[in-house]
Amino acid sequence: MIPFFHIDERIEKASDEALKKCKSQFDLIDEITEYNQLKVQKAFIKHSISETHFISSTGYGYGDRGRETLDKVWADIFCAEDAIVRHNFVCGTHTLTTALFGVLRPGDTMLCITGTPYDTIHGVIGITGEGMGSLKDFGINYAEVALKDEKPDMEAIYNAVNDYTTMVYIQRSRGYELRPSLTVGEIEELVKLVKSKNPNVIVMVDNCYGEFVEKREPIEAGADLIAGSMIKNAGGGIARTGGYIAGRADLVEKCAYRLTTPGLGKEVGATLGMNRELYMGLFYAPHTVGEALKSAVYISALFEGFGYDTTPRYDAKRGDIVQSLGLENEESLVAFCQGIQSGSPIDSFLTPEPWDMPGYDSKVVMAAGAFTLGSSIELSADAPIREPFYAWIQGGLNFHSAKICALLAAQQMHDKNLLKGID
Ligand SMILES: *Cc1c(COP(=O)(O)O)cnc(C)c1O
Repeated sequence: MIPFFHIDERIEKASDEALKKCKSQFDLIDEITEYNQLKVQKAFIKHSISETHFISSTGYGYGDRGRETLDKVWADIFCAEDAIVRHNFVCGTHTLTTALFGVLRPGDTMLCITGTPYDTIHGVIGITGEGMGSLKDFGINYAEVALKDEKPDMEAIYNAVNDYTTMVYIQRSRGYELRPSLTVGEIEELVKLVKSKNPNVIVMVDNCYGEFVEKREPIEAGADLIAGSMIKNAGGGIARTGGYIAGRADLVEKCAYRLTTPGLGKEVGATLGMNRELYMGLFYAPHTVGEALKSAVYISALFEGFGYDTTPRYDAKRGDIVQSLGLENEESLVAFCQGIQSGSPIDSFLTPEPWDMPGYDSKVVMAAGAFTLGSSIELSADAPIREPFYAWIQGGLNFHSAKICALLAAQQMHDKNLLKGID
């Protein structure tokens, strides 16, 4: 019997079966978590991190040792020459934008080889919108290679790269698509392919949702620049805001000139007491990502057991923390999200309803009960109300907490006579 919450016996039984199926994936996740934890720990020890690195700077923030050392720790962990880790990157999109504008110049060409990038990047590139100062407005060309059978199209990519390609852009995570995420091994193949055609091309990877999912990171696979958000994997559920860019030193320097000013670069930026949580978030990140992965694997196994489509399958190799479930109709999506919300540590009393979210072409229902608003390393679920009625689920600060939320979601569906497969 599950204490404190009412869960139908048949759902509990399905949960026990799902847990059995998860065993070998959980073992694998534990192994990766331990490896990455040791990697992080070693970097902290190497740089002799101490209380002095948490001291708060103000004003220009010159000589902030905590900030400067965090960049070095980060660079070591991600096998990069340099990094810029800042709380004043306001979100992942801002971080990616800083990197793109930092590196690209008028007349350059950016080629995205993983289909159309994540929604919020469209306005940055200039795929949508006009006059807002997109890359396009500044004379930077854009091209993309569509996916083929949900995978990068190697032949079309080889043909698309030429002497004029300045940057090749790769999105590691699936984002809100049903395609599989890219593994670091697949990123390595892509890097080899594009560099065989043009060795000077800069390979940039949108690393959002990918950090610490595997033992290697994209720079180790030959990428030149990566960027991500602190309210996803890399902040470990501790960082309340921020982002990072890491990679080749000359490129990171250009990004720093864009974030602050040409000339000032990395030398400035008051940390206002944020260092401690950025360090602590990084320290927790491998473990938190492991918990989020276990949550995703379990949810996949549980709902597959009920007879729903899941991507990825519970036993698939993963390149990010995102899980999606085909819940088949609007009522089920809403009940699922309401169940997740009802078990959240924060805002459990709220009832998510579908609404017309700006920028979406259908209604969306979202569940999120997080310590940090919008954090998606904490358990959250979003579902556009449209065919094929999939919910996207990510995060989970700890597995047990995410597990009860998943069970409450199943229970909520069952209470409304929507849950398949338990009679
Ligand atoms: C979340 C995400 C972004 C954008 O990050 P925000 O913090 O939402 O601005 C970009 N790319 C991918 C793949 C993401 O998952």
